[in-house]
Amino acid sequence: MKILVINCGSSSLKYQLFDMDREQVLAKGLVERIGIEGSRIKHTKTGQDAVVTETAIPDHKEGIRLVIEALLDKSHGALSSLGELTAVGHRVVHAGEKFAASVRIDAKVMAALKECVPLAPLHNPANIMGIEAVTEALPNVPQVGVFDTAFHQTMPESAFIYGVPYGYYEKYGVRRYGFHGTSHYYVSKRAAEILGRPIEKLKIVTCHLGNGSSVTAVREGKSVDTSMGFTPLAGVLMGTRCGDIDPALVAFIAETEKLSVKEVDSMLNKKGGILGISGVSSDLRDIEEAAKRGEPRSKLALQVLSYGIKKYIGAYAAAMGGLDAVVFTAGVGENSSTVRAMTCEGLEFLGIELDRSKNDIRGKEAVISTDTSKVKILVVPTDEELVIARDTKRLTPGP
Ligand code: AMP
Repeated sequence: MKILVINCGSSSLKYQLFDMDREQVLAKGLVERIGIEGSRIKHTKTGQDAVVTETAIPDHKEGIRLVIEALLDKSHGALSSLGELTAVGHRVVHAGEKFAASVRIDAKVMAALKECVPLAPLHNPANIMGIEAVTEALPNVPQVGVFDTAFHQTMPESAFIYGVPYGYYEKYGVRRYGFHGTSHYYVSKRAAEILGRPIEKLKIVTCHLGNGSSVTAVREGKSVDTSMGFTPLAGVLMGTRCGDIDPALVAFIAETEKLSVKEVDSMLNKKGGILGISGVSSDLRDIEEAAKRGEPRSKLALQVLSYGIKKYIGAYAAAMGGLDAVVFTAGVGENSSTVRAMTCEGLEFLGIELDRSKNDIRGKEAVISTDTSKVKILVVPTDEELVIARDTKRLTPGP
């Protein structure tokens, strides 16, 4: 069974073709700069070099056409005919309260996703364009939507209601939703497997630390709280996003800098975070290098980041009434031994003991706590595409 997984952004489109009988990636690629000058598709068949084609890609429809063409190519393709493709799975960012699990896409689901556009104005329109482009190119191929918000739908009201007039929740759906759900689900499940313990008996804090970052409390396999909120701006410090701040700052900065609310929102999303504090870069690799050179604001950015994650770990241990494991994942979590060490430092009182030599790894599954640590610390590379492919397989009738 061959399944295509698609992750559409506003000007990009990532894809992976899976052989789901063996759970293997046959080909993957990236369509970049859709609708912008210099657009291109980078396609890689597993085991071969990448093939890059620069061509005009005015919209997602043309992007999908090029993906199909690449997958059918005689030399670097991975499908002999389109009939081999069983289904397409899409990453969709926001499903509001409408879906707590993945679904087969039909007209009703599309209408529901369109209703969620005000909740994710940057992401959902791109996801919808991707689904519409596939529907047009492959009208008979079933499609499945896998939502970033779905895993967090198990949060209790006490964790998702904000201290604003309740009518805003009733009228506009103002509440905490949480994101990166597919990743938190995958790494918590994988951590339980690695530890050889049933997830129903575990209290886990999962730290998805990438360009966007979120921390989640997973009790008995279910999300019970998460650091991102109504939007992916809340929570820990990110590449360019500010994370948790005093909400009164929005009015203060708007008034003093003579900016509109929209401009302040854009600043908090694009000019804050690690970039904002360091003034150097949003990429943690640059910050680690600058900190090593003694650059004080890069050192401070690392401290603010790890202090914030540490506080969430403590808060979620309290929320769950205990803690069995802490999991690090995504670009920073999988690769930065520095951030992991700075985060865990001082948490020994909770039973969290990092083994410094085991921590000296990147990008692979590992238990990095000491043998005697009460709470296990793990690195688990995330694989959101595999979860999407599995859900798509589960929701598609066999051939
Ligand atoms: P993601 O959003 O999960 O792709 O993560 C991207 C981020 O991971 C980048 O912006 C980097 O800050 C960080 N990252 C990737 N590789 C490394 C590395 N080797 N060391 C430290 N940070 C890294």
